Amino acid sequence: MSAFWHPPNPGGSPKPESLPGPGGLSGLGASPGPGGPLGPGGLPGPGASLAPRSLSRPKGPLNRQILHVDMNCFYAAVELLHRPELRGRPVVVGGHEEMRHGIVLAKNLIAKRFGIQTGMSLVEARQQCPELVTIPPDYHLYMEFSRLARAIYYDYTDLVEPFGPDEAWLDVTGSVHLWGNDSRLIAEEISERVKAELGVSVSVGLSWNKIFAKFGSDYRKPDAVTIITPENYRQIVWTAPVGELLYVGRATRNKLAASAIHTIGELACEDERLLRNKFGKIGPMLQLFAQGGDITPVKVLDPQSSTVDYEIKSIGNGLTAPHDIVDERDGRLLVSLLSESVAQRLREQRLKARTICITVRDSADLSCYSRQAPLPQATNITREINAAAFALLAANEPLDGSRPLRTLGVRAANLVDANLPQQLSIFGDEQQRLALERLDSTIDELRRRFGNNIVRRAVALGDEQMTPLDICRDNVVHPVGFLHR
Ligand SMILES: [Mg+2]
Repeated sequence: MSAFWHPPNPGGSPKPESLPGPGGLSGLGASPGPGGPLGPGGLPGPGASLAPRSLSRPKGPLNRQILHVDMNCFYAAVELLHRPELRGRPVVVGGHEEMRHGIVLAKNLIAKRFGIQTGMSLVEARQQCPELVTIPPDYHLYMEFSRLARAIYYDYTDLVEPFGPDEAWLDVTGSVHLWGNDSRLIAEEISERVKAELGVSVSVGLSWNKIFAKFGSDYRKPDAVTIITPENYRQIVWTAPVGELLYVGRATRNKLAASAIHTIGELACEDERLLRNKFGKIGPMLQLFAQGGDITPVKVLDPQSSTVDYEIKSIGNGLTAPHDIVDERDGRLLVSLLSESVAQRLREQRLKARTICITVRDSADLSCYSRQAPLPQATNITREINAAAFALLAANEPLDGSRPLRTLGVRAANLVDANLPQQLSIFGDEQQRLALERLDSTIDELRRRFGNNIVRRAVALGDEQMTPLDICRDNVVHPVGFLHR
């Protein structure tokens, strides 16, 4: 066990602390586990007989101190700060009710009491609660709060990985000695500061791996700190429904249920070969996550260098879209946003790409794949990168609503120095290419001076949720790195 893990202080995190102390697997069969919303819900806990001997200790190195900070009811909380007159009323943030994407993006606690859920259509939400106040989203405002929150996190570590606008992982292993080797103190201080400085409450999870830290921040909210330790994870994490594990979506949960796997503990203790047979490589990966064996590092997302690997073998951007990508229009839009930032980075680094790659993650389960294609000639022209990436997507996806996608990535690879002389294509229109290059460099200059969102492609104006995204600054994809190591 790690020397870093100290018994938490009274009052810090009462729910986990009220659980039995360090418990072996033997105690779990009889233990009802923690109650509350994420409790076992009557599902059987993992019994001693389920656990192989090899699971007597959690998988993975235990010496990391990882926080997951989640700003509660983020969009709604930020809006209410600016509209104090709405306090006490049921409020949701969402698009215009008549528009196709008019869904609830965030709700306050009062709206939640009416049964309103994130993702529900605004029409449905209004049926549940006729006096509902709907506010159109102001992403610029949320991104600013997101940036301000990250500025606080950077006071504790430079290892900060955003996970959407309202969540982030922080690896504080290297700085925890400044807080008496007690990372809970860091969690509590961050929580106090975000509340005092931004007016938004947070829930924080703390563990030795990212998956359990995320679980902890979901476990109790709002305004709570939950610590998942090698001593308590079986009682807290393993007794929870398997759907509470990050990356177990509805389709995977249903498939797991068909194999009589209902809790995270049951997933952790299942026969690996069976999981591999049924789920492919996702099965053992999810099992490893359930065992506490997620070793993915907290990935630094410095806008200047984050998605450029050290040898600059490739430059890529990925995005988990605010809503599923269901049709060609969505696909074109997201590919365009991603290609734009990839091409811009190529130009910043004075590089051109000879190969374009896409990564696609299905919304219904975790399936994720990559495809690549050579470019007719090395390029960093936005329009060419975009056309090649979209062609690759369209060749592999129906984009007709039958297979919603969650995450898309566009990557430029096989890079060459942009200044290298190139053979002119006898088929391509070199005059047009030169014009496109001039256009790109003008846009780059405008963006350098006035920010990334000063110029937009027309296609990017077609979606109220994606349009305001500044992909160059706000992009996150975990676990694509894990899947493609
Ligand atoms: Mg949140």
